Amino acid sequence: MRFSVLASGSTGNSIYIETDGYAFLVDAGLSAKRMEQQLESIGRSMKQVNGIFVTHEHSDHIKGIGVLARRYGMPIYANRKTWTAMDGLVGEIPTEQRFHFDMESVQSFGTLEVQSFAVSHDAADPMFYVFHEADRKLALITDTGYVSDRMKGHIQGADAFVFESNHDVSMLQMGRYPWSVKRRILSDVGHVSNEDAAVAMSEVVALKETRIYLSHLSKDNNMKDLARMSVSQTLQTCGIVTGEHVHLFDTDAEKPTELVTV
Ligand SMILES: [Zn+2]
Ligand SMILES: [Zn+2]
Repeated sequence: MRFSVLASGSTGNSIYIETDGYAFLVDAGLSAKRMEQQLESIGRSMKQVNGIFVTHEHSDHIKGIGVLARRYGMPIYANRKTWTAMDGLVGEIPTEQRFHFDMESVQSFGTLEVQSFAVSHDAADPMFYVFHEADRKLALITDTGYVSDRMKGHIQGADAFVFESNHDVSMLQMGRYPWSVKRRILSDVGHVSNEDAAVAMSEVVALKETRIYLSHLSKDNNMKDLARMSVSQTLQTCGIVTGEHVHLFDTDAEKPTELVTV
């Protein structure tokens, strides 16, 4: 399977995944026009997309969903509570395009298996996805206040991770956000810090070539270099030297990552 992180960060999130038979998006958090441009820049077209899996109803994940659904008629997958929460935010989506993807369930599309799992975040019923094809595994996990053992069990041993590395704790604490917002981000239903993400990563990477995409970086409370450095340092204290079998990659709010094979 191949994938690209089309956009990542609080201004919009979307990930593209394809096999030889299918193409999907996870979330469409940019405007429909921007989503189309992001796909074109990796040599793909929205017309090829067979469906969109929604993680949760925050606008940085669903902004383009309504327009794309109406423009291209593709199926949209979300769990029941997320559908209810999305209604009113995405406009009319025809019944025949509304599909249920239950929490902690698996759906198959040809050779591709998609597994959903719960995360801890302040949305109706937030969940992320793991993609399996043959013996390859791609795990997506952002928008979670912490990484539980149950989540670790789902993402364990993936060949590639799109992993939240949201903020640097001291930048957040010293920054300009009001205390209520800081408290929300730091809470169990907010976002994971660079250090906490790295500790969780150290427990789920296997002894094989592994790509980790540092994702959903806060624009105000993180920087790519800082995220990379602190994740790398924390991994090292956990016995993992990056650049050996574990490789870190940046993601960007504007520019898609290279389409790579997992
Ligand atoms: Zn988000
Ligand atoms: Zn969110």
